[in-house]
Amino acid sequence: MPESDRTLYQGMILRIAIPSPLRRLFDYLPKAVSDPATDYQPGQRVLVSFGRRKLAGVILEIANGSELQADRLKPIDRLLDTEPVFSEGLFRMLRWAINYYQHPPGEVLSTALPVKLRQAASVQQLIEIWQVDRTASAEADALLQRAPRQKALFDWLQQHGPSAPDNIVAAGFTRALLRQLQEKGLIQALQLTLPSKPWNTEDCVRQSEISLNDHQLDALEKINANDQGFSCFLLEGVTGSGKTEVYMQAMAQVLKQGRQCLVLVPEIGLTPQTISRFEKRFKCPVVNLHSGLSDTERLQAWRQAHAGTAGIVIGTRSAVFTSLARPGLIVIDEEHDASFKQQDGFRYSARDLAVVRAREEGIGIVLGSATPSLESLYNADRGRYQHLLMPQRSGSAATAPMRLVDIENQPLEAGFSETALLAMNKHLRAGNQVLVFINRRGYAPVLHCQQCGWTAECNNCVAQLTVHAQPPGLHCHHCGKQESLPRACPNCASRQLDTMGLGTQQIESRLRERFTTVPVLRIDRDSTRSRKKLKAMLDQVNSGEPCLLLGTQMLAKGHHFPGITLVVVVDADSGLFSADFRGQELMAQTVTQVAGRAGRSDQAGEVLIQSRHCGHQTLQSLIQLSYADFSRQLLAERKLTAMPPFAWLALLRCEARSAETGLQFLQQIALQQQQLCQQFGLQVDCLGPLPAPMEKRAGRFRSQLSFKSEQRAQLHELLARLLPAIEAMKLPAGLRWSLDIDPVDMI
Ligand code: ADP
Ligand code: ZN
Ligand code: ZN
Repeated sequence: MPESDRTLYQGMILRIAIPSPLRRLFDYLPKAVSDPATDYQPGQRVLVSFGRRKLAGVILEIANGSELQADRLKPIDRLLDTEPVFSEGLFRMLRWAINYYQHPPGEVLSTALPVKLRQAASVQQLIEIWQVDRTASAEADALLQRAPRQKALFDWLQQHGPSAPDNIVAAGFTRALLRQLQEKGLIQALQLTLPSKPWNTEDCVRQSEISLNDHQLDALEKINANDQGFSCFLLEGVTGSGKTEVYMQAMAQVLKQGRQCLVLVPEIGLTPQTISRFEKRFKCPVVNLHSGLSDTERLQAWRQAHAGTAGIVIGTRSAVFTSLARPGLIVIDEEHDASFKQQDGFRYSARDLAVVRAREEGIGIVLGSATPSLESLYNADRGRYQHLLMPQRSGSAATAPMRLVDIENQPLEAGFSETALLAMNKHLRAGNQVLVFINRRGYAPVLHCQQCGWTAECNNCVAQLTVHAQPPGLHCHHCGKQESLPRACPNCASRQLDTMGLGTQQIESRLRERFTTVPVLRIDRDSTRSRKKLKAMLDQVNSGEPCLLLGTQMLAKGHHFPGITLVVVVDADSGLFSADFRGQELMAQTVTQVAGRAGRSDQAGEVLIQSRHCGHQTLQSLIQLSYADFSRQLLAERKLTAMPPFAWLALLRCEARSAETGLQFLQQIALQQQQLCQQFGLQVDCLGPLPAPMEKRAGRFRSQLSFKSEQRAQLHELLARLLPAIEAMKLPAGLRWSLDIDPVDMI
């Protein structure tokens, strides 16, 4: 074919992001070639035929032509929206995310939409209105002669005019009657959009009875001074310093201007306590995006935010994708928390995206924490964020002192040293509450044979099975596999099976035996599957009666337990010797957060940390220094080792049916990486391929290749060149790979 005949298509082309694993857009024609260009805008959803399926996609670009020939282009089936489905700033943030995370655009955009909007649901809240069909009225008498109830409804509608079904039912009619009249062609239903009316800005906040202290006032003034522009504030305030109070007063100013607030909290922080605190303070509608919502409820909530009727949107990481008609302020509570990072599919950091969003919306954002991430501290150091410090607890409560308890070669009872037990006794007798923090779940991590040393392992994973007491059984925490407890050792038939290590359930039962006069409440993922149960336990704690509270990380977040005066950290060592470069940062954050639960009211608190390595430099620094100083020390170490935030990481993960297959695949990529770095002069280091720390999970072998550069642009250039090459490779059967930019969990 002569070159000139291969004409490319000239004319309006919609370039559409379609949910598919491909890192590209797809070209479609408008529904009719004569459609005016003004009908189409980036951000609108369209229904298209994709292969043999009908899928909803989003227009990302509108072009003047295609590299495809006319006969290969199909028109869209239908335009689903008259307006873009994402508010402007949100859409700009999403475009940034597609580029930054190098993730397939269709998957990014569908992750950002509530499930119902990934299908054809309407963005607007539609309400149904019933009215009499004027043309049919003449026939009504004849048609309804023998149907008195239908006649009554028909007359009622004629009298009352167009009516909502709720009012019709309230007047004593049924929906069945409506349908019967509709079938006779006597009435019709209209779908109307509800006008969005914002809250009353004159009266949207209940007065706070709290007068702020100087640190709070200073922080609030700086946040409030940011009028109509992007600014990021790192609010570093010790636990109980009154950060939430500052958030709420800053939000009040924004709400009074008629603008909306988006509040992101960690997964475990979205408790009824948190929500009721916001609902009590504000009179405007508060939309709460928790995991218990049905798809329909989530859509309703999203619509309220999109229409601008909700003043406050509060939710966990995915709430960062909520469309807002009039955004005014973003707040991220506990910004260091790992749950802001999505760990599969589109692996975004909600904290990082929120900062980008605030920039794109031109509004303020407050990142709050008692233990900020090193990334945010570094940004504050560089002057990118305004650093607001609140080093004192509000009111009279002093910071609880921390003390190390050496448990090396000590007789332990249920994991506790004598020192810890005596302290617990003392605090409980004084009528106070005690919190025991344990960084594990399950009854006892490992089942082992005292005769031959056999331990129970999962045969899907290179991981030991955890013994659970209720119901009795062995669980794999990595693939979810469950087995019954063996009566004898499968290796030597000995019956001397024993458990090593202590889990929360075991500690719970031993504590029950020892402290018979106070309730022992265990709060971990297992015991709090139901929100109701969790609430009941929290209520009991809030009653202030003496009790022993036993829990995992769940307790190290945003809860307020004023009655607690003693915190015991059962084992600090697991965080000390972590393979992950963030291990010590995480440990310091957890211990500091847990310690912050003690003595929040006017009672002095005390924190005991048990360790077999009390001389360890990190532990010593942690108890001697404040988190603020300790984190400086960690930051200096990161600089020396050129790790984040002083360098940028990307992790290419691979899962395959055999260890060899995965490693070979990654080896090929490592070679390509070398070539590309040479060819384009890119300074990017490559580590691996290596087996992942968790080598086998759910029957698959996991391996990884990590890339690091001190120049983010160079890392991204490399990835942008590498990904098309990987996508063009023929994958071995059963092999899956994924890219994780700024990974937080190296496992
Ligand atoms: P944080 O979010 O930093 O942990 P909160 O805002 O939850 O702190 O405040 C902890 C407790 O102190 C809350 O009960 C809060 O009502 C109270 N509080 C906050 N600020 C003040 C203040 N200026 N004066 C008195 N009490 C305060
Ligand atoms: Zn397993
Ligand atoms: Zn044995």
